[in-house]
Amino acid sequence: MSSSLLITDATLNDQRVNIYCEDGVIAAIDPVAKNVERNSDSTLDARGMFAYPPLINSHTHSSMTLFRGNGDDLPLMEWLTQRVWPYERGITVDEIYWGAKLAIVEMIRNGTVFFNDMYWDFHAVAKAVEEMGVRAMIASVIIDVNDEPAKRQKHWDRIERQHQEVEKYSDRVQFAVAPHAVYTVSEESYRWVVDFCKRTGTVLHTHLSETEGEVEGCIKDHGGRPVEYLHRIGALETNLVAAHTVWLTESDIALLGEYGVVCSHNPVSNMKLAVNGVYPYRKLQAAGAITALATDGAGSNNSLDMFQDMKIAALLQKLTDNDTTSLSAHEVLDMASDNPAKFFNLGGKELVVGRQADLILIDHTRPELNPAHSLESHLVYSATGNVVDSVVCDGKVLMEHRHIEGEEEIIAKANEAARVLFARVDDA
Ligand SMILES: [Zn+2]
Repeated sequence: MSSSLLITDATLNDQRVNIYCEDGVIAAIDPVAKNVERNSDSTLDARGMFAYPPLINSHTHSSMTLFRGNGDDLPLMEWLTQRVWPYERGITVDEIYWGAKLAIVEMIRNGTVFFNDMYWDFHAVAKAVEEMGVRAMIASVIIDVNDEPAKRQKHWDRIERQHQEVEKYSDRVQFAVAPHAVYTVSEESYRWVVDFCKRTGTVLHTHLSETEGEVEGCIKDHGGRPVEYLHRIGALETNLVAAHTVWLTESDIALLGEYGVVCSHNPVSNMKLAVNGVYPYRKLQAAGAITALATDGAGSNNSLDMFQDMKIAALLQKLTDNDTTSLSAHEVLDMASDNPAKFFNLGGKELVVGRQADLILIDHTRPELNPAHSLESHLVYSATGNVVDSVVCDGKVLMEHRHIEGEEEIIAKANEAARVLFARVDDA
């Protein structure tokens, strides 16, 4: 069924325009002064708003919203072993679903309409994405390092099955496979996943070179650094998204560049978990890697507001490089939109006719966006997600003037899911 939306009187590239969306695509952009008549099923008033591309979150664990604020300021392994894993072991599909819904509401509020997700139930997150109207690449996750070898086949069968089952969703849902990390996945399974991803063209999403301990462990277990190990087993030849890529040598950087790997930078998570290293932005960019930005999960961020990560990413590079010109506002916006857009089959940062109709409206009457010297500067250094007034994805309005349909119920249900999950494990 055809559907259309007319966004009236938005500011786009210093021009006042009406943006006409049809069947999920920007079908026309008419200057307001021209008075072009368009009939549409619905309208969205954009007076006082900039039309802007939405943000892309290249690595998160959506349902970890349920863990937000539960166990901060702890050493990484203590946090994982005491405050995360015991609860994740017993988490239900329903709890994962409500955690994902809460994450999506938060991301919509902050202008993100696509996220690259890694969590425990593909279908629970896919259902949440379908209902909320956003886009996501959702991974079928594998952790098997402590499993009996006989159990591996079960993981592989599940990945094959879910790869088929993704067909039942709209094209807003994309499928990926996520071997969690080199220290949680057997070499046998990593090799199987690499073969599967090459055979099917599926994206491989993994954590990579996040901490010094991971690098040391990989040298001990696999005789090479994590990047060298993945290179040896062919993983760099897949469509690879590597989250973190903090602990890298010059030769690691050269390899990630040579294969055009998406290197997803999670500055807040890295700083909060004190990984004691910094994503080498300039070197990765120069080598040819795809530099992208992400929040990581709400357990280690604790916000899913990409505006916070944009500012912190820029500041972190400047401080580390002792250079104010490092990671400019323009570059950091590219990391949150244009750089990863093509990889994930999304529209880039230019809102033009023919592009998929995903956009956000930014309220330029807000004090933190004035005076209007530079929108790019304001978005990175001054704004938070609160400047986002409305959100459109696939030609549908997901948030209209800060209102999201069903938000109150989602927050209540997610609170209840967290309460039940924590009580069940704590009482056991
Ligand atoms: Zn992560």
